[in-house]
Amino acid sequence: MINEKEAKTILRKKKKIDSWFLTHYGLNLYRGCMHNCTYCDGRSETYRVEGDFGNDIEVKTNAIEILDRELNPARKRKPMPKSFVMLGGGVTDSYQAIEKKYQLARKTLELLVKYKYPVHILTKSTLVERDIDLLQEINRQSKALVSFSFSSASDNISKIFEPRASLPSERFATIRKLNRAGISTGMFLMPVIPFITDLPKIMDNTLQKGKEAGIDFSIFSTMTLKPEIQKNYFMDNLVKNFPDLESSYDIIYANKSQWGEAHFDYNMSAHQLFNQLATKYKIPKRIPPHIYRKIITKTDLVIVTLQHLDYILKFKNAKNPYSYAAYKISELPKPIETYSKSELSRINGIGTVTGRIIEEIVRTGKYSKLYL
Ligand code: SF4
Repeated sequence: MINEKEAKTILRKKKKIDSWFLTHYGLNLYRGCMHNCTYCDGRSETYRVEGDFGNDIEVKTNAIEILDRELNPARKRKPMPKSFVMLGGGVTDSYQAIEKKYQLARKTLELLVKYKYPVHILTKSTLVERDIDLLQEINRQSKALVSFSFSSASDNISKIFEPRASLPSERFATIRKLNRAGISTGMFLMPVIPFITDLPKIMDNTLQKGKEAGIDFSIFSTMTLKPEIQKNYFMDNLVKNFPDLESSYDIIYANKSQWGEAHFDYNMSAHQLFNQLATKYKIPKRIPPHIYRKIITKTDLVIVTLQHLDYILKFKNAKNPYSYAAYKISELPKPIETYSKSELSRINGIGTVTGRIIEEIVRTGKYSKLYL
């Protein structure tokens, strides 16, 4: 069922830049998703999407009119910090089939061209090819990045768990087309499905296919199963197709936390396997700086680099101060480049070593010892 609604606001603004997606701004043009992935956490109670998540789709019919006001710099007292505007992820896929009729994603890109904003799209649909012309225009002005989410490269597995999304082979073909059009692309390998798509052979194949298609990076995550609707829906589907796996899931999802994370040891070994394979195929594990260096502020560049450093060190189980330092920097009232060395060293959470790293990022746009 299609449910047309008028929204009050569209753009969700975050004070601190998100270091996974390189964005301060998210937006959902729809709520609910016809792709109906069985593991989608958008259907969990946390997001309060009404109705049957995969079949009842809310369309924000006035989204473009509101977004035009929200993006217009003439209506702002101070300029919005530049970052990617994130289109997709969360509770919908902006390029699901209904977009062919409503064209809200395309009209959003037209607004981003009008106001010269960079865009990062996350989708599982080849419909994004329709908008290559606008993505190229955005690329000329600032930067367009298109990421695809995958649970594996297998079309057969996808047909079970992602019943109405474009097949992985089709997503790879679109990645190739986007690359030929000069648009950067990424793979969000999230979530891997325990004991099915997290197996070494399957994950190796997924990253190999991504590398061959030309992805610029891959970002990894394991699957969460939030209690009640999401977990029940997923487990019903799992038991129908892989009945032998139920008891293994009971073990790794024994933790009943509201976030539904898998057991720490399982997560750690899955991340380590991903790390090995990404290293084998020389695929960066975070969005690499050449993609965003020119479009974000120096303060955000420092925050993102410190968070990426924290992520890489966590792989090695090494405690470090960089995430906390990134948080402290996000709270500063002035741009990072206006602080002297001695002022920086007086900020709680920034010692001499972190101070030196910050100074290098501000001066050169990167930290030379960080290999993603
Ligand atoms: S494409 Fe994304 S938003 Fe849509 S059902 Fe799948 S995981 Fe959920």
